[in-house]
Amino acid sequence: MYDVVIIGSGPAGMAAAVYAARAELTFVVAEKDMSGGQILETSDIDNYPGFPSISGFDLAEKFRAHAEACGTEIIENITIEDFRKIDGGFELVFDGNKTMETKTILIATGAKPRRLGCAGEEEFVGAGVSYCATCDGAFFKGRDVIVVGGGNTAVEDAIFLARGCKSVTLVHRRDSLRASRNLVTKLKSLPNVEIVWDSTVERIYGNGMVESVLLKNVKTGELTDRKASGVFVAVGTKPSNLGWQDKIPCDEGGYFIAGENCETQVPGIFAAGDVRTKSLRQVITAAADGANAIYRIEQYLAEQQ
Ligand code: NAP
Repeated sequence: MYDVVIIGSGPAGMAAAVYAARAELTFVVAEKDMSGGQILETSDIDNYPGFPSISGFDLAEKFRAHAEACGTEIIENITIEDFRKIDGGFELVFDGNKTMETKTILIATGAKPRRLGCAGEEEFVGAGVSYCATCDGAFFKGRDVIVVGGGNTAVEDAIFLARGCKSVTLVHRRDSLRASRNLVTKLKSLPNVEIVWDSTVERIYGNGMVESVLLKNVKTGELTDRKASGVFVAVGTKPSNLGWQDKIPCDEGGYFIAGENCETQVPGIFAAGDVRTKSLRQVITAAADGANAIYRIEQYLAEQQ
């Protein structure tokens, strides 16, 4: 029986692994896909101390290398499906009917991009509609693209796309951006970026590939067509809560309710990083959660003896 199974290998999971190793806990990191988490799809990270500018992919590699240097075992391509309470801990069910036993569970599964929900969105996913500018931006070199959203991701995506695209139109549903001031200043300095305020995407049109979008001004109701080959959706994230919201209390957004010590309302189960209720979802806050969670898990394990 492990002391802890860490589910997810983003910054929260990898930081937890480093701390678990230092605490000499027995543990494993279980990862559904490739290790790294959401930062694998982040172009530049310039707010993680010690790294003035680094790509998300490179930072993820460093996190992984650090965790592995401490002796972390990472199992990739494993899908944790369910958990059952057993004597002294939990039985985790994975990949159908396989099981592993652990005294505690640390959920560090992060979050995923939210969809717009407009007509045409599903039809054109992978055919002009994208949720990852850094992954797909190169396909739109010299083309006109739309970015939807007003947060840091949308603004970063617009800045990134403006390097190669002919034009970038940022469509935001309000008249001010919630993104950080330095990003907004940079965005506004770019000659091929236009911001369309108070507007939503009503419909995405195309013929095999995206060709245009129908925008609606939410204040006037006015509808306008705009030519675009790509629609980059950056309207926030939803938690990857494993479908466990009925077993572990969550907030209205589906994020596990847990304080800074990452303890959920189910004893022995902890949540760290973007999947936890919190006000600031950043690499640094996720990594901090990983450390806090293991600190609390050590105490919890001692209390159980
Ligand atoms: P976010 O901050 O939640 O922003 C989502 C944006 O999408 C908001 O502007 C929101 O509008 C808009 N929106 C939501 N639903 C919409 C809909 N149905 N239709 C149109 N627009 C919609 O999400 P995020 O930008 O992905 O960032 C997530 C977290 O990661 C944040 O804490 C962010 O600071 C952080 N982050 C940080 C960095 C960095 O520091 N380098 C980079 C990326 C992300 P409203 O403003 O009207 O709500």
